[in-house]
Amino acid sequence: MSLLHNRVDRRLLKQRLMVEDFRRVTLSFYRYVILPQPEEVRDRLYAQWEALQCYGRVYVAREGINAQMSIPEHHFEQFKTELYAWPEFNNVPFKIAVEDDGKSFFKLAVKVKDKIVADGLDDGAFDVTNVGNHLTAEEFNAALNDPKTIVVDMRNHYESEVGHFEGAICPDVDTFREELPLVADLLEDKKDAKLLLYCTGGIRCEKASAYFKHLGFADVNQLHGGIIEYARQVKYKGLPNKFRGKNFVFDERLGERISDEIIAQCHQCGEPADTHVNCANEACHLLFIQCDACAQKFNHCCSEACADILALPEEQQKELRKGLIKGEQNIFRKGRYRETAGTILQKLAAAKNEA
Ligand SMILES: [Zn+2]
Ligand SMILES: [Zn+2]
Repeated sequence: MSLLHNRVDRRLLKQRLMVEDFRRVTLSFYRYVILPQPEEVRDRLYAQWEALQCYGRVYVAREGINAQMSIPEHHFEQFKTELYAWPEFNNVPFKIAVEDDGKSFFKLAVKVKDKIVADGLDDGAFDVTNVGNHLTAEEFNAALNDPKTIVVDMRNHYESEVGHFEGAICPDVDTFREELPLVADLLEDKKDAKLLLYCTGGIRCEKASAYFKHLGFADVNQLHGGIIEYARQVKYKGLPNKFRGKNFVFDERLGERISDEIIAQCHQCGEPADTHVNCANEACHLLFIQCDACAQKFNHCCSEACADILALPEEQQKELRKGLIKGEQNIFRKGRYRETAGTILQKLAAAKNEA
C-alpha cells in the first residue's frame, strides 16, 4: 500500500474540521535529502502526525520530502520538536501562510512518490545540487528593478492567472514538466541575462535553477521560500510589494491574497474575479474562476450541463459517475473549457453505456 489516510467520508471530515474549537496553523516545508527507505519514513511520520491531529498532503520520495500541512496551534511546538529530531529534517524551514483560516486541509495523506515534484527530468544527467542564488524578498525586489532582468514564473497557467510578479513571463502550461523545456526554448538566446525564477514555496525553483545552470545560463537566481515567504517578509519588514493579486495554493483555500488587485476574470461572464473553485458536479470537478453572481446562477457549477446533473438525485449522479476516472483533475483553459462543459453530458452517457 502506497497511501495511508483516513477512509472516512469527505463531508464528515469537513464537518469535523468546522466544529473544532482550536486554531490551526497552515504551513509548508520541503527538503531535498536522500531517504533510502521512503516507506518507512512515511509510516513513522504518519503515526507521529496522526497523534497530533495534523492534516495535510505530504509527499515522500527517495529524493526528499514535500509537505503542505495544517497543525493544531497547541501541538505546534511538539510537532516541530519531533520533526527536528529526525537528522534528515533537522531545522527544515517552515513557510507559514499569511492569510489563514486554519481550514486548509481536513485529512492527513502521506504518499510515497518517485519524486517530490514531477519534473520529468533525468536527475542523473546533471548536478541537481548546483542551484541558483537564493534571494530574499528585498534582494528580489532590487533585482526586479534592473531592466536587464528576465523574470520567469515557474508555476502553471492557472496559478499565474490570478497573481504574478510585475513583468514576469507566465508560461501557458498545465504542468511543471511541460514548463521546463518550454522556458529553456524561449530563452535560448538569453543565456547571459540575469534570470529571476520564482514559484509558490521555492521547491520548483530548486530543480529549475539547477537545470537552467546545466543548460548554460550564466546568472540564475531564485526567490528563496517562494511567494509565501516573500509575502511574509513584505508584511513583517514593510517592504514594497511587487506581487499583484493572489498566490494560488494547493489546499482547500485555493489561494492567498497578497495584494488587493484582482487581475483575473470570471471564466463564465468575464467580470473581474480571482476565486478558484472546483465545479460542484463531482464528475466534472473542473478547476476554474467563478464570480459570486455566476456561482449563484450556475449553482456552483461550470456550466448549465453540470448544473443539470447536480440537480439529479444523488443515486442517479452516482450511476452517471461510474466508469469515470476518479481524481482526474480538469483544468480550465481557453477553448478547452467549452469543450469540457459541452461534452460532459456525452462523456457521462458514454461512460454509462460502457459500465
Ligand atoms: Zn461571472
Ligand atoms: Zn462542470
